[in-house]
Amino acid sequence: MPLMTGEQYIESIRKINMEVYLLGKKVPVPVDDPILRPSLNSVRATYDLAQKPEYEDLMTAIDPESGKKINRFNNIHRSTDDLIKKVKMQRLLGQQTAACFQRCVGMDAFNALWSTTYDIDKKCGTSYFKNFKKFLDYAKENDLTVDGAMTDPKGDRSLAPHQQPDPDMYVHVVERRPDGIVVRGAKAHQTGALNSHEMIVMPTIAMSPEDKDYAVSFVVPLDTKGLFMIIGRQSCDTRKLEGGNIDVGNAEYGGVEALVVFDNVFVPNDRIFLNGETEFAGVLVERFAGYHRQSYGGCKVGVGDVLIGAAALVADYNGAAKASHVKDKLIEMTHLNETLYCCGIACSAEGTPTESGNYIINLLLANVCKQNVTRFPYEIVRLAEDIAGGIMVTAPSEKDLHDPKLGPIVEKYLKGVAGVSTEDRMRVLRLIENLSLGTAAVGYRTESMHGAGSPQAQRIMIARQGNIPAKKELAKKIAGIKK
Ligand code: SF4
Ligand code: FE
Repeated sequence: MPLMTGEQYIESIRKINMEVYLLGKKVPVPVDDPILRPSLNSVRATYDLAQKPEYEDLMTAIDPESGKKINRFNNIHRSTDDLIKKVKMQRLLGQQTAACFQRCVGMDAFNALWSTTYDIDKKCGTSYFKNFKKFLDYAKENDLTVDGAMTDPKGDRSLAPHQQPDPDMYVHVVERRPDGIVVRGAKAHQTGALNSHEMIVMPTIAMSPEDKDYAVSFVVPLDTKGLFMIIGRQSCDTRKLEGGNIDVGNAEYGGVEALVVFDNVFVPNDRIFLNGETEFAGVLVERFAGYHRQSYGGCKVGVGDVLIGAAALVADYNGAAKASHVKDKLIEMTHLNETLYCCGIACSAEGTPTESGNYIINLLLANVCKQNVTRFPYEIVRLAEDIAGGIMVTAPSEKDLHDPKLGPIVEKYLKGVAGVSTEDRMRVLRLIENLSLGTAAVGYRTESMHGAGSPQAQRIMIARQGNIPAKKELAKKIAGIKK
């Protein structure tokens, strides 16, 4: 099957009978829901852009096994060039959507599972690689969007999965049958789930032998019996119900997160990728997290480009563009944003082949990348707010702008420089608001902190990979210390 167009993708998601709840109610047709639709549009962009000749090199790849063109989101990285193109593709999509386009979690899960299932089979004589490859071929052939779900609710963080008073705090196997397993639990913060055809589930932490039932990875379609989603609230989300296109800040694109519940879900044997091999849970987590921490050196940079552009525009509209401190703030924003990009490119360029044949990023540099992402977007947002002025949060609504009596007053008093309409000034202010503290702040700010693992998770990896003993030896040698 050729690559899907954006429209074909939307219709393919429409056909999936998902059980979705939002604001206390079941959503009859999620693809048509005004709060949810912008997040679907963000994934649609991964299909639309793949159709454009100018983006073909970044958005698609030739599958070495079938010789067919596939979407890069379904690609297994075979070189550092592939890893670099991945980051460039993500920056491009961040620029085009100013939102989380969600499809990366599947790509990162594919690449983590490719090498991990290979390693498990080699050590344990299992057939997970075969299972995984069969599913991957199906996903490639049908140009599917696949979610990669890792984060469990985790309950009492001081306790291991098997010690939790409520065993459902981590997804686990509740029944083993000859034809498969039955699982129960939940995955939190799932950005892509709602807009995916299939969902890959992985464990969220390293595990000990007592956690056997929790060391489980598998894939299920989103309309599987027993699977349902409760969509998370976002700041300013109900503005999307008001019918306008200014106050929402970004009318076309967005992202939403879901608590995905597995209420005794059956998984057939050939869709299982890990089932009780606890020693590999940590390996899978480390690889998936590494790839996703690389990803943030692309997607967040692309969204940062939009925010920097918005700050520069509002400076123009306010008549402040020539002020030296404004110019310097734009330089600082650019410096921070490009530093994140450097990290994304560096961990890709320093990637290495795994025994299974795909390429993995340099884990130390990928964790440094994400650690910087937990900080720099906050500073970029701070500077954007500084340049924008308080009007980004005190401006009247677009209903006031369009009101026969109030409209001329809003026009008059929110006017900036001559030649720029008040409406355009309001539009860019609302975009900055959206990225800083509206619906997109979930994807640009808080996700920068906690997505792909909270800051401490990267510090643990940096400690592990930093090789302090080797650095001590370097110092000893230079200092002339003999032992
Ligand atoms: Fe992709 Fe970034 Fe969203 Fe992760 S946060 S799914 S890398 S766009
Ligand atoms: Fe993410």
